[in-house]
Amino acid sequence: MFGSKLHIIKYTVIFLTFFLTGLINSFSLHAQPNEVVAEKGEGIYRLLTRNGLPVSQYLEVFVELNKDRLGPGNSLYAGRKYKLPDKTAETPSKSTGTTRRFEIFGEKYADVEIIDEQLKGAVYHLVAGHGGPDPGAVGRYGEWQLCEDEYAYDVTLRLARNLIQHGATVYMITRDNNDGVRDDSYLKPDKDELCYPNLKIPLNQTRRLRQRTDAVNTLYQKHRGNFQRMVAIHVDSRSHGENIDVFFYHDKRSKTGKDAAHILKNTFQRKYDLHQPGRGYKGTVSDRNLYVVRNTYPVAIYIELGNINHRRDQQRFIIPSNRQALANWLFEGLMEDFKTNK
Ligand SMILES: [Zn+2]
Repeated sequence: MFGSKLHIIKYTVIFLTFFLTGLINSFSLHAQPNEVVAEKGEGIYRLLTRNGLPVSQYLEVFVELNKDRLGPGNSLYAGRKYKLPDKTAETPSKSTGTTRRFEIFGEKYADVEIIDEQLKGAVYHLVAGHGGPDPGAVGRYGEWQLCEDEYAYDVTLRLARNLIQHGATVYMITRDNNDGVRDDSYLKPDKDELCYPNLKIPLNQTRRLRQRTDAVNTLYQKHRGNFQRMVAIHVDSRSHGENIDVFFYHDKRSKTGKDAAHILKNTFQRKYDLHQPGRGYKGTVSDRNLYVVRNTYPVAIYIELGNINHRRDQQRFIIPSNRQALANWLFEGLMEDFKTNK
């Protein structure tokens, strides 16, 4: 169990914009740039805004991308196609010490300070489990319903932010455009999560898993040659009596996946030994035949954070600083994985 007094990286307050890239609905080797047709009377400002691109951030890129298609004074021609800037949570391209904004983290956490570039070149595809019409496991805590997808998503977002702060390129594959990082105990369930870049998540499980697998694999091709990881984050549900430690799965065929999972597990072991000596940590690493793990191209790590039905495990989820601690420890493990296996 996490104590609430863990050393948690104190973040200066924050804001950001995690944007989505061009439409990727098929398995193309090269993602096509997203294009839109200018409407009658429309200028750059309106066109960017209606496509969810803050003008302050994307005006220059847009002009550069479309310089051969613009009219006098950078006006748009109605009916003509224009390229939209890439909205992914790309590598923090600016140098250390700068701040970049990613709206996906929500108002309070949107500004992300780039602390260093230790993870430069690393690409992470983060898949928070379930989402959209599927809440995943549902636990009860007093009057509250704890939905796996919301808690997994919050930890995943926090992890994404940590990775970006150290220069990684991060894709939130499951994404919620209006939740952001939440410092509440009770995370209100909703069903508006989307799959990268902005696709509605189907109810059918096979289609849902295939959709996110396709999203990861398309991005994988785009970053071919880079160090890449797919990290899936879930919260298990078992009987009420069973508390479980954070544990890890990998693909049977992947030696690197196994090594990476062990590194993460050992990180948790060390952290518990340090912060809660005598507690004992019984996390495990094993292989398991899971669709997303089996079918995604990058080395895959699948994480179960605990049992959403168990009283004690629930503290790991409902205390926001514990969710941050989970993200921090996962981050440290991934950092070590990068340094060891790159
Ligand atoms: Zn799950």
